[in-house]
Amino acid sequence: MSELGSEATPLQVAVVGSGPSGFYTVEALLKSGRTVHVDLIERLPAPFGLVRYGVAPDHPKLKEAILLYQNIARLPRFAFVGNVTVGRDVTVEELLAHYHAVVFTCGAETDRHLGVPGEDLAGSHTATEFVAWYNGHPQYRDRHFDLSGEVAAIVGQGNVAADVSRILAKSVDELRSTDIAEHALDALAASRIREIHVIGRRGPAQAKFTNKELKELGELSNCTAEVDPAALDLNAESRAELEAKANFISAKNVEILREIASRARGGKPRRLIFHFLKSPVKLVGTGRVQEVVLERNRLDGRSFEQVARPTGETESLACNLLFRSIGYSGVAVPGVPFDAKRGLIPTREGRVVDAADKPLPGLYAAGWIKRGPTGIIGTNRADGVATVKSLLADLPVLPQQVRKGSEGLAPLLAARGVRRVCYEDWDVIDAAEVARGQPKGKPREKFTRLDEMLGCLKMSR
Ligand code: NAP
Repeated sequence: MSELGSEATPLQVAVVGSGPSGFYTVEALLKSGRTVHVDLIERLPAPFGLVRYGVAPDHPKLKEAILLYQNIARLPRFAFVGNVTVGRDVTVEELLAHYHAVVFTCGAETDRHLGVPGEDLAGSHTATEFVAWYNGHPQYRDRHFDLSGEVAAIVGQGNVAADVSRILAKSVDELRSTDIAEHALDALAASRIREIHVIGRRGPAQAKFTNKELKELGELSNCTAEVDPAALDLNAESRAELEAKANFISAKNVEILREIASRARGGKPRRLIFHFLKSPVKLVGTGRVQEVVLERNRLDGRSFEQVARPTGETESLACNLLFRSIGYSGVAVPGVPFDAKRGLIPTREGRVVDAADKPLPGLYAAGWIKRGPTGIIGTNRADGVATVKSLLADLPVLPQQVRKGSEGLAPLLAARGVRRVCYEDWDVIDAAEVARGQPKGKPREKFTRLDEMLGCLKMSR
């Protein structure tokens, strides 16, 4: 029998999830020097995952990663299988019957919970929902965010919290020429938010912002950033953290915060106020959130291991809207092991493992669903390469028979009434979105409903 990964027996791989880690995994497979056919399966008709639906609309540079993904999609032996949900339209077992291997690159699509009373009151949302809503994600199209009050609180001090703060802080004129969804722009135009409180459970030296994102929050034209200078008196352990060479991002963050603290306050329509060493312990309100109770923390532990410990001292912050931005979490795929505590698929060197830590033949993972929601877009490239290395090392133990990939899947999808969207279909949707954006001076006006996307394909036939 000919070797798997040769012209006679091409390796057929399904990659599930078309965000950054999906495309980098596809690239590593197609450039591996073997004969590999890759089908990139995506539940939406549109590819690019978090780059399309997660990156903030006012950060178009970050979306340039799409240019690379478009080139990957034009490589020979690549197929996009959009509008197909694994676990609903097709099972993992069925995929394994049509492919030699399946790689899960489905990211981390939900948020972690705070676990405090009142968390589910109206007006308390996850950052993920808000981000997906303003980016026009079809599953979040009908979410409602009441922007009629004056005070918003954001819990967490990472880059997602920075994105949410900026979108709330900017004027609509600053957002108008971005690819922000029209419904979000309309809602933000009516926003009465004046104060944005960004709340960290640890200190300024432990904030997770990257420098560029933090600096940007201090330089908004419509909003002044404020930091209490007393909050920048650091304990000895934090000062030692900042002296470590490798921790230059945190050292620069503290420098940026000191600079913000030294500036005059006010003079702009909106205020953004940083809080440190505070944790929400309760959300209070009749019917909807009206107040968040914050408990003051102190840092405990050695440098780089400091954790927030409650002091028992509380304060109350009146607010009309609250976003939890405390990190993403993955969602289980039916038929695939899942570590609910860590919110990811358990793996060893990219191979999916069962509860006994034993690799499951033919199943792999890469990106956030493998390692958790950390790192920038490019971090996923090395991760995809590493998983593909394991997959290729397993070629001798994978099934050696010819597999048909999407050709084998097609009758099954057709019988279930699933309209598969191929890459040429996406080109049609893409062009239509760009054309819709043109009269408004936007790079594109996204379709935010599945039937609009699929309807646009019918019209092109
Ligand atoms: P993140 O960077 O991990 O930040 C999460 C924040 O939530 C931290 O401040 C964390 O504090 C806090 N937190 C966690 N659990 C908490 C709790 N129970 N109570 C209060 N606070 C809690 O996560 P992220 O902001 O979601 O970002 C995810 C990844 O995407 C990051 O790698 C980020 O850099 C990246 N990203 C990049 C960009 C960009 O490049 N422009 C934009 C968006 C996202 P502790 O430190 O104390 O845990």
